[in-house]
Amino acid sequence: MNSKIKLLLIVALMLVGLGIATIVNISLNFREYSIKSATEKATATASIVKDGLTAHMVNGIMDKRDYFLNQIYTNHSDIKALWIIRSDKVKKQFGEGFKNETIRDVLDKDVLRTGKTVQTIQENAQGITLRISIPYNATSTGTPNCLNCHNVKDGDTLGAVSMEFDITHMRNDGMLTILKILGINLIFIIIALFLINYYVSPYMTLFTNMQTGIKKAYRGDFTHIFETKVEGDAKTITQQLNTLFRKMQETFGDIKHNLATFIPQGCVSSNDPLYEAKTIINELSDIYKFKKTIELDDSKELVYKRIVDTLKYKFSFKHFALYEVNIQKNSRELIYISEGKSICASEVDSDAMLCRSYRTKSDIISTEFINLCQECSCENLEYVCIPFDINDEYALIISITSKEETDIAKINKDIPSIKNYLEAAKPVIESRILTDKLRETSLTDPMTGLYNRRFLEQYIDKFVKQAQRTEETYAVLMLDIDFFKKVNDTYGHDIGDAVITQLGKVIRESVREADLAIRYGGEEFVILLHNASKEGALRVAKVISEGFAALNFDVGNDKSIQKTLSIGISLFPEDCDSIWQCIKLADTALYVAKTTGRNKIIEYQPEMSQNDNLR
Ligand code: GH3
Ligand code: MG
Ligand code: MG
Repeated sequence: MNSKIKLLLIVALMLVGLGIATIVNISLNFREYSIKSATEKATATASIVKDGLTAHMVNGIMDKRDYFLNQIYTNHSDIKALWIIRSDKVKKQFGEGFKNETIRDVLDKDVLRTGKTVQTIQENAQGITLRISIPYNATSTGTPNCLNCHNVKDGDTLGAVSMEFDITHMRNDGMLTILKILGINLIFIIIALFLINYYVSPYMTLFTNMQTGIKKAYRGDFTHIFETKVEGDAKTITQQLNTLFRKMQETFGDIKHNLATFIPQGCVSSNDPLYEAKTIINELSDIYKFKKTIELDDSKELVYKRIVDTLKYKFSFKHFALYEVNIQKNSRELIYISEGKSICASEVDSDAMLCRSYRTKSDIISTEFINLCQECSCENLEYVCIPFDINDEYALIISITSKEETDIAKINKDIPSIKNYLEAAKPVIESRILTDKLRETSLTDPMTGLYNRRFLEQYIDKFVKQAQRTEETYAVLMLDIDFFKKVNDTYGHDIGDAVITQLGKVIRESVREADLAIRYGGEEFVILLHNASKEGALRVAKVISEGFAALNFDVGNDKSIQKTLSIGISLFPEDCDSIWQCIKLADTALYVAKTTGRNKIIEYQPEMSQNDNLR
C-alpha cells in the first residue's frame, strides 16, 4: 500500500471515528433531553390540572371537572391518557369520584403511597411512552388552604394526576438529526479526503519520485531526475538534488575515467561507479605497494617470487605454474610450480611455440572448448593460461589449474587484475634483465672488475629512462685518489696498479647489486647508488673512504704506504635533469674536495655552480 493511500485511510478512519463519537454523544443527550422535556411538560400539565381542579373546587363545580380534563387531553395530541386518582382519605371524605378516577397501575399506587412523582419510560417498536404520576399533597400554607376542606394533615397526599405522554416523535426527531449529522459528516469526510488528496498528492508523488531516485543511487546510478509540480521549498529541494546527482554522476565518471588510465586492464565491471571506484582504488593501492616493493628487489628472480606470492596470497590460487619464455631461443623454463610436475608436455620447454597461449598471445580457458590445448596432459583438470610479454626477448606464461569447473569462472574474472600486476612488474623485470645482461658483457674493467666507461656511455641512458618511468632515483658518487701521481712517480706503475685494484675491491664490497660502479678514468670512479637518499649516499661514501684509507700498500723494503680518497656527491634527479649532468656536478663537488684539502666527502651545492672556477 503506498503512502498516499495509507494517509487517506488514516484521515478517513479518524473522521469516521469522530463522526461515530459525535452521533453516540448526540443520541444519548437527545434521549435525555427528550425525557426531560416530556417530564417538564407533564409537570406543567399536572400543575394546570391541579390549578383547574382547585378552581373547580372553589367554584363548587367539581362535578364538571371531566369536561376540563377532556379539554386538556384533546388539545394536547402527545398526551395519550390523562386521569386523576383519589387517596383513600379523600375517597372517605368525598366518595369514590368518577368511574375513570381509579388506580390503574403500580405507579398510581406508588405515587399515593410515597407522595412523590413517579415515572417510567415504556419503549417498544411502535413507540415510546412516558408514564408519569404527579401527586397533590395537602398544604395549609397555600391559597386556598387545603385543610379548610379536607380532613387530612398537612403534607398528606390527596391524589395525583397520571398521564401517558407519547414521546415517539422525539425518537424520530433524534433519528432524523442523527441521519442529518451522518450526511453532514459524510460530506465533510469526502471534502476532507478530496482536499487532502489534492494538496498532499504532489508531495506524495515527489516522495515516491525521491524514493526511486535514492534507490537508483544505492545501486550507483545517479542519472535520476527529480521532478515536482509543487512550488516553493519542494521545488528548491528537487533542484538541489538534481544538481547534487549531476555532480555525483560527473565526478564518478571522471574518477572512473582517470582511474582507468592507471589500470589498463580494468579490474571490475559494474554499473555502480562508487563500487567501481572503490575497487579500482583498492587495486591501485595494492599494485602501488607491490610495485614499490619490487623496485627495491635486486634481481629478476626475486621479482618473479613476488609475482608467485601475489598469485598465492592475493588471488588465493592453489595450483599454478609460472614459466619464462626466451623468445629468441624459443625455449621455455619453469620458474615455479605449486606442486607436482608441469601439466604441459615437456616438449614445450624446447619449443615454446607449442604453447597455445604463447603462440596465439591469448588467454586459454579450458572450459571454452573441449581439449583446447593439445599439449596439456591434464585429465580431469581445468586450466587457464595467461601469456604476458616482458620485452622482445622474454615473455611469461601463468598456468592456473583446478579440478572444479566453477573455479575457472573466478580465475577468469581475476585475469585483468593479474595482468595489472604483471604490467606493474614489467619495467622492473626489464630493468633487472638489462642489469643481468650487462653483468655478463665485456663492458667491465679487467683491473677492478667494475664496469668501464664504455658501459656508462652505452647503457646509462636506458637506465635513466627506466628510472624516470618508475620514479627511481640515483645518488652519483665521483671518487678520485689523492696525490696518485706521486705513487706512480715514487714507487712505479705496478704499485699504482695495485692501489687501483684494491680500491676496486673496496668499492665492490661496499655497494649493493642494484648499484652501478664504474671505473670512469685512470684512478677516478663513478658509483650510481640505486634509490639512495642523501644520507645513504654519504654513508656508502664514508664506508669506501674509510675502507680505502685503512689499507696498507706494500712498497718494498718493508715499507708500506696509505692513500686517501676525495669524493663528490650529487643526487639524480634532485640536483639535475640528466645523469651526465649529475656526474658533472659530482665532479664539481669532487673538485671542491680536492681544492679544500682532499680526503673529503663533499655534497654538491648549487652555489658551487655559481663559482666561475668550478664551472
Ligand atoms: P689529485 O689529488 O689532484 O687527484 O692528484 P693526482 O696526483 O691524483 O692527480 P691525477 O688524479 O690527475 O693523477 C692521475 C694519474 O693517474 C695520471 C696517470 O699517470 C695515473 N694513471 C692513470 N691510469 C693509471 C693506471 O691504470 N695505472 C697507474 N699506475 N697509473 C695510472
Ligand atoms: Mg687523483
Ligand atoms: Mg684523477
